[in-house]
Amino acid sequence: MESAEYVVVGGGVVGTATAWSLAGRGAEVTLLEANELASGASGGPGRRGVRAGGRDLRELPLARRAQELWPELDTLLGAPTGYQRDGRLSLYDVEIAGTSGWQSLPAKVQAQQAAGVPCEIVDRARLDEMQPGIADEVEFALYTPNDGTADHPATTRAFAKAAVERGATIAEHTGVTRFSPNEDGSVVLHLDGGDRLKATRGVVLAANRSIPRLLLDSAGVTLPMWEKATQVTFVAAPTGFALNHAVGHPRRSLSVKMTDEGSVMLSGGRPGGWDPVTGVGTPDPVVLRTALADLAATLPALSDVDVLAVDNNRADTSTTDLIPVIDTVPGMASVFVGTGWSGHGFALAPAVAEAFTNWALDGERPDSVRPFTFERLGATRPN
Ligand SMILES: Cc1cc2nc3c(=O)[nH]c(=O)nc-3n(C[C@H](O)[C@H](O)[C@H](O)COP(=O)(O)OP(=O)(O)OC[C@H]3O[C@@H](n4cnc5c(N)ncnc54)[C@H](O)[C@@H]3O)c2cc1C
Repeated sequence: MESAEYVVVGGGVVGTATAWSLAGRGAEVTLLEANELASGASGGPGRRGVRAGGRDLRELPLARRAQELWPELDTLLGAPTGYQRDGRLSLYDVEIAGTSGWQSLPAKVQAQQAAGVPCEIVDRARLDEMQPGIADEVEFALYTPNDGTADHPATTRAFAKAAVERGATIAEHTGVTRFSPNEDGSVVLHLDGGDRLKATRGVVLAANRSIPRLLLDSAGVTLPMWEKATQVTFVAAPTGFALNHAVGHPRRSLSVKMTDEGSVMLSGGRPGGWDPVTGVGTPDPVVLRTALADLAATLPALSDVDVLAVDNNRADTSTTDLIPVIDTVPGMASVFVGTGWSGHGFALAPAVAEAFTNWALDGERPDSVRPFTFERLGATRPN
């Protein structure tokens, strides 16, 4: 049986970043990808947000660390990630219950700043200077200057290329069907086609939506999660229209970005139809109509735009508290798991990779990932 010190399962942004990070500390790493690199949530059209603004407070230490790492990545990886730090404006109009109303803003600013995430409240006059064309109803914005966007497939490929340059091996079209841990901390990976590979020091499971099945079949652990294929819409930008910053509207669940091709990308978390067996999405016309209406109500210049494309062929994983699982499998200290990203995994990936690396090589769970346990979700291993 062939072996490597560490085996990473899954070639999305989390797996490739982790392979790069482990190899950077001298570990011998093999990454196994069932299909091709970036064939899961880390692939697909458009751009992904790289933001800490508005995230769950438990995620902020990790998000802040990621924001320190992102600006250096192009240089460190020797390949473009498409990262741009343009800042993000979250818009607030009417006061409503929950955390989407403007009365929550001072408290949010205080908590985010305490976690090292710069942010400030922007009043209407300044908002008009920063981003002309916002609907009159908007009273305030929360501006997070360190937020940005990047090209997710390019970033995943850049991590993979740089991991190989550091000595990692990457095998595409090599799926893992299950794993069996040994008493000495080594783990045997069972591969499609019957081959096996031994990880002598540990395994990082970064197979995202396949992780519940791998855990159930290999360890009897039921991880409560679901798959969500956020519907993304691309519309033509009218002549002269420009977004100076990414724009979000928490109450409307709308997120607006410019693409490299000059179209306007709408997302924000509303899912389209999704078949978890085939991995194929079906655009939902109601979600499309809602997104276009929300866009028109937020940026009136985009009231009558041509729809260029609608895509929901990529699914991420969600947990009930909308923060990830970053943990070792209960009772298996050398099997690390990262999943349940709840739509935040791309931005966090560089910091997650660093945390897995330090945890695996130094033996201690980093403080930044302490909240993200299996236990909190009721996922335990049967006796
Ligand atoms: C439409 C959409 C918009 C999003 N927007 C944002 C955003 O703005 N900001 C943000 O931070 N995040 C965003 N996300 C979430 C983010 O993209 C994901 O959290 C992140 O890409 C997850 O990366 P991953 O490497 O863990 O998983 P994936 O990218 O899903 O990669 C898992 C890989 O594992 C492989 N695999 C599966 N099973 C096996 C197996 N048995 N053996 C070997 N390999 C296997 C798959 O083929 C796949 O390549 C969005 C997600 C979607 C779908």
